[in-house]
Amino acid sequence: MPETHVPSTATSDPLRILITGSAGFVGSHLVERFLNEGHTVIGVDNYISGQVSNTDLFREHPRFTFIEADVSHGIPYTGDKLDWVMHFASPASPPHYQQFPVETLMVGAQGTQNGLELAHAHGAGFFLASTSEVYGDPLVHPQPETYWGNVNPIGVRSCYDEAKRYAEAITMAYHRSRGVNTRIIRIFNTYGPRMRPDDGRVITNFVHQALRGEPLTVYGDGSQTRSFQYIDDLVEGISRLMMVKYHEPVNLGNDEEFTMLQLIEILRDVLQKPLHHDFHLLPSDDPVKRRPCLMRRREVIGEFLAKPLNSGIENMIGDLNN
Ligand code: NAD
Ligand code: UDP
Repeated sequence: MPETHVPSTATSDPLRILITGSAGFVGSHLVERFLNEGHTVIGVDNYISGQVSNTDLFREHPRFTFIEADVSHGIPYTGDKLDWVMHFASPASPPHYQQFPVETLMVGAQGTQNGLELAHAHGAGFFLASTSEVYGDPLVHPQPETYWGNVNPIGVRSCYDEAKRYAEAITMAYHRSRGVNTRIIRIFNTYGPRMRPDDGRVITNFVHQALRGEPLTVYGDGSQTRSFQYIDDLVEGISRLMMVKYHEPVNLGNDEEFTMLQLIEILRDVLQKPLHHDFHLLPSDDPVKRRPCLMRRREVIGEFLAKPLNSGIENMIGDLNN
């Protein structure tokens, strides 16, 4: 299918969209895209891992409203009829969710249910941000959506992994038993401008360490792999999936796979300067490898050109320098 003919929110009628986690990295990019396309956006966040500066970007926009609230305790929205509730609230970086394990479980459980109830009451669609972490330390590679995963249910990552698995389960339950028009995406490692400099994720750490001239902190021997998706590609996938009635989970990611040592090589090429690294303990349950199978994504929302890692990192660094 040629790219220009793929339906997305860019060509839809104006929508009223409530986004939980709007002050986070991904949430703020969704707010930006939807406002630019003429939609009305209500952002909700409690700043547990987000940034006030991400709300400030849109505060003066006539079609943006912000509600400061913890969505695990309820979503205090009393406005006009919503078309979509998009549930992106959750600490997402391993250091953040391990610092707030109970809050992470709650936002995946009660937060998701509160979003589903709101969507149901408004006859709106419900869009869940799930994660590649539902596959745990995968025994199948690359990971298709049909793989049920290999998750340690009591490990340090379980507060996140199991919260998202529950979130997927309750989303399917509301779809099956209450007819809510749901979507579930499993996001693979995504990066770009507006990540919190201290979020602890690998690209953020490496970029900031390199810019400060510090050694890059490689956990383990650096042979573990990840597949990194640029934020604009994720947002495009989300926008397209909203326009297709497909209720099973869809992987959204980039299927190029890198070891952490290869990631350092890419960064070295981008920065054109020597980089040094040292080795640190590998955190427990850190997945050995991860790469999405994207067959379903291609079938459901079509193909698009993904941004290569080097130019995505260039953009991210360019944004930091502005
Ligand atoms: P982020 O931490 O930058 O953003 C999450 C936002 O949710 C933050 O602003 C935070 O303050 C808010 N939040 C958390 N709990 C809340 C609560 N109870 N009430 C209100 N707001 C709350 O993380 P992100 O990278 O933007 O991730 C966004 C979503 O995408 C998350 O659900 C995450 O699990 C999912 N995801 C992201 C990635 C990635 O690589 N970025 C990968 C997989 C899944
Ligand atoms: N990692 C690393 N150095 C860092 C941060 C992370 O080597 O400073 C590794 C981490 O052990 C993992 C990979 O990078 O294997 C990706 O980590 P991240 O926290 O970005 O995301 P994850 O995929 O683990 O949720």
